Amino acid sequence: MAVTKTHEPALINHALSLGIDLIGENKVQELLGKLDYLDPPAVEKHLIGHLQSNKVRKIVGVVSMIQSVDSLSLLQEIDRQSAAHGLVTDVLLEVNIGGEDSKTGLVPEAAPELAAAAWELPNVRLRGLMAVPPICEPESEIRGYFARMRRMYEDLRSSASDHTVIDTLSLGMSADYVPAILEGSTLVRIGSALFGMRRY
Ligand SMILES: *Cc1c(COP(=O)(O)O)cnc(C)c1O
Repeated sequence: MAVTKTHEPALINHALSLGIDLIGENKVQELLGKLDYLDPPAVEKHLIGHLQSNKVRKIVGVVSMIQSVDSLSLLQEIDRQSAAHGLVTDVLLEVNIGGEDSKTGLVPEAAPELAAAAWELPNVRLRGLMAVPPICEPESEIRGYFARMRRMYEDLRSSASDHTVIDTLSLGMSADYVPAILEGSTLVRIGSALFGMRRY
């Protein structure tokens, strides 16, 4: 995935012309503002940033996946809005794997219960897990966080009634995609390594 937050549509479209076929944005408003300018307009989009329940209505049907689900109320709202649109929305549960106060995401222990809740909702389809681990040195430490995510992902797969649906482990950004892939990531989210530093 190319993470396109803060970048202008012209730059994003250049990446799309070179073969990028999935983009990720953090903010609902920013993504909506770019929609009219994307070429091709139908490029696949995921929401990867924190989502407030009151914005779900605006994003369902726009993105093919919401990677940042971290509460039951959010899950229920995605289900409700998806039903209203006659859609099933793919979701990942976001895990706060480093237990950091500064980050959103579930505590790891809460993931099985939220997964079970997702399986009861007809208009969401749980596809896997996402995490942003703490910034850390050395690399062995970050691999430990990724390995723990991989184990949680395997547990989720084995408890799913249809384990083939659990196919997405979203781990790794510009600075750590190599260890993420080595630990089993199926989807890396790359921003600055593709587009350079972000200017806010
Ligand atoms: C910004 C962001 C990325 C991309 O970060 P880079 O370090 O620029 O690759 C990936 N995932 C999430 C959730 C982000 O917010």
